[in-house]
Parts: sequence; structure tokens; C-alpha cells
Amino acid sequence: MSERGVRGVAVLGSTGSIGRSTLAVLRRQTEHFRVVALTAGRNVEAFEAQVREWRPAFAGVAGPAGETRFPSGPDVLLQAATHPEVDVVVNAVVGAAGLDATLAALRAGKRVALANKETLVMAGDLVAQAACAGGGELVPVDSEHSAVLQCVTGRDAGLCRLILTCSGGPFREWSEERVRTATVDEALRHPTWQMGSKITVDSATLANKALELIEAHHLFGLSYDALEVVVHPQSIVHAFVEFCDGSVIAQLGFPSMELPILYALTHPARLPDAGVPRFDPVRAGPLTFEPVRTDVFRALAAGIAAGRAGGVSPAVFNAANEEAVAAFLAGEIPFGRISEIIERVLEDHAPASASALAVVREADRWARERARDYVRAA
Ligand code: NDP
Repeated sequence: MSERGVRGVAVLGSTGSIGRSTLAVLRRQTEHFRVVALTAGRNVEAFEAQVREWRPAFAGVAGPAGETRFPSGPDVLLQAATHPEVDVVVNAVVGAAGLDATLAALRAGKRVALANKETLVMAGDLVAQAACAGGGELVPVDSEHSAVLQCVTGRDAGLCRLILTCSGGPFREWSEERVRTATVDEALRHPTWQMGSKITVDSATLANKALELIEAHHLFGLSYDALEVVVHPQSIVHAFVEFCDGSVIAQLGFPSMELPILYALTHPARLPDAGVPRFDPVRAGPLTFEPVRTDVFRALAAGIAAGRAGGVSPAVFNAANEEAVAAFLAGEIPFGRISEIIERVLEDHAPASASALAVVREADRWARERARDYVRAA
């Protein structure tokens, strides 16, 4: 790392769960990285404290901020992502709002440490084109994809199958009936990970695993037949990687996003970091694996079908999911309707190729409107 000097980092979504974990990592790595740009959504109070601590060259608030001394509006994400002193953009924004910043950073030749999986799902091919055009590089932050990257780095031939693990979420052992009427509090009680509310609900419906399979398809270039999910309640093994000779390599660790975040900053190099929890196989205890109950967690099957269909279908899946999750969190629909709304919006949509950003945006807009119609029809 040191021969490259100190690298400038932009953290988009610095007030969120991944954003705060990123700053915790950067606080220990000041010899190698400095914070150049920070952006928040709406939480101006927490953001003020971050800006006082880090004194970034650029700080902006993307949401409607009211009285604020910072530049505001969605363009702040682009300004942070393309800032000339930035080498690495950690995109920790939640949802479709992160797409333009990922594209702009890649076109500007930056490394994007991507937590914002929704945007790769929406526009995977366009993201790859932007990286190709600008010389940018996409490195995953998601723990499962970081695990795969760590297993395949330096072993670039013969990758043939990925098995992503899944904690199973808070409703892993619940009956279908009980899952249908689960409350917001119950859905937000994730057994192994502390995360923002949208991804926590995605983990309860298992829509998160569908987003991750689509993300894996784009990142590692494997067909959906070569991508699998297994339930692993302890969240110790993050992914299995199988090579063509049948050899399987896995990456393990106690659940913490700080290692995947650090690795996304340093890949393919590694840096020591005393803050990352050390592994202890005895304390990890027995590791168990079980099949996914796709009949109960139907959002997973719907998302995989959308991924296989390709074109705008993954963008439609993502938008319908975002709207249904927001409606669930707002108390407008019961838990069971999230997957039902996703399925209906996917059934209704007209498949199209996702060859231009305007087409993806229109599919996203249409799917949100359709999903809101179904919410209102509840
Ligand atoms: P949070 O909800 O905790 O944080 C989201 C961040 O994005 C906040 O800083 C928020 O600002 C900001 N934000 C929200 N809406 C907008 C918007 N419209 N424009 C600009 N900024 C916005 O989410 P997480 O940190 O949990 O997740 C972030 C991303 O990382 C998601 O895509 C998630 O799927 C992914 N991810 C998360 C993991 C985790 O452990 N949390 C693990 C793997 C992936 P503010 O709070 O100021 O309003």
C-alpha cells in the first residue's frame, strides 16, 4: 500500500451503518487513507459531528436538509464521487439513489468500494461499461462478495460455482402463517448483523439474497445456474467458491463489516487492523447449513427469476422491493405483502433490454408507481 502513498477516500452515505463502519476503519488507517469527501442524506446533526472530526475537502447533504451550511441536493453525490483528490469512493448510500455516483466515479477512473448493491442490480451492464470507459474499478463491500473476491484473488482460472451463505433472517424457523403477519419490530431484529432498516427488512424477506445473487452474476461473470444460496445461521462462513476440479475454498470470520470494508479499500493488498475481530474456531462453535425455504421466502425466487430474465427485470424487482419495503416500514402493508407486491409488479412489467440508462430509469419509475398502486389497493 505504502508505495501508492496516502489515498483519498469519499464516503457517500457516511451517516449510515456502512458509512459509520467505514469511518471506524479509516480512523485506524490514517497512515494509508485520508477522508476527502463525505455526504449524508438527512441526518445533518450526525453529519456535523463527522465533518468537525474529519475536516473533508468536500461535504454535502443529498437530502432535503432545510437549514444547513452544506451544499445540498442529489448532485452532491456526484461532486464527492468525482472529486479530483479522491481515489476510492465508498458508496454506502441505500437504494437506487446511489446509481449516478457509481457511474460517475467509474467514468472518472476511481475505485468504487460498492456497498450500494441495488445499483449494480438495476444497471449491471451499464456499470460495467462505465468502468470500461473510464478505467474505474468496482470492488464489493458486501461480505459474501468480499469473501468470493478474497477466495478468487490470485486464483483466476477455473472458477465454476459460488455458494453464498445466508443467515436465514429473523424468521428462519417461523411458520408461513406467522411470517405473513410479522411486525416491523420483529423484522428489524436481525439475528447476526446490525444494519440499516432497508437491508434488515431485505434480509428478513430474503430479497437481499436475490439482490446478492444478481450482484454476484455481474461481479464474477457466472451464470445463474452456477450461483447458489445456503442458509447458515451463524454467519461465520461468508461464501464458498468451487473450482472446476471440485476444490472448494471458503472465507470465514465473525460477522463484522469492517473487514470487507477494509479489504475493499486495500484489495489486492492487505493491511493489519487491530479493530477487526480475530477469529476463534472454538468460540465460533458448531457451523450448520440448511436449504432455503423458497416456498415461504418468495421474494428470493422472484428476484432470481428477474435476474435470469435480465434486461430491465432486475431494475423492476429492485424498485418494487424498495417501494414495498418502505410501505411496510411505514405501517401501510403487512410483511407478507412485500413479496406479493414484488411478484405482481414483475408479472405486469414489459421485458426490455437495459441497454440505455433512460430505459432503466423508466423501468424503475414505472415499477415504483405500480408497486404504490398495489400498496394503495391493500
Ligand atoms: P443506512 O440506512 O444505515 O444508511 C444509508 C446512508 O445513505 C445514510 O448515510 C443515509 O443518510 C444515506 N441516504 C439515504 N437516502 C439517500 C439519498 N436519497 N441520497 C443520498 N444519500 C442517502 O444503510 P446501510 O448502511 O445499512 O446500507 C447502505 C448500503 O449498503 C445498502 O445498499 C445496503 O444494501 C448495503 N449493505 C449494507 C450492509 C450493512 O451491514 N449495513 C451490508 C452489506 C451491504 P442519512 O442517514 O443522513 O439520512
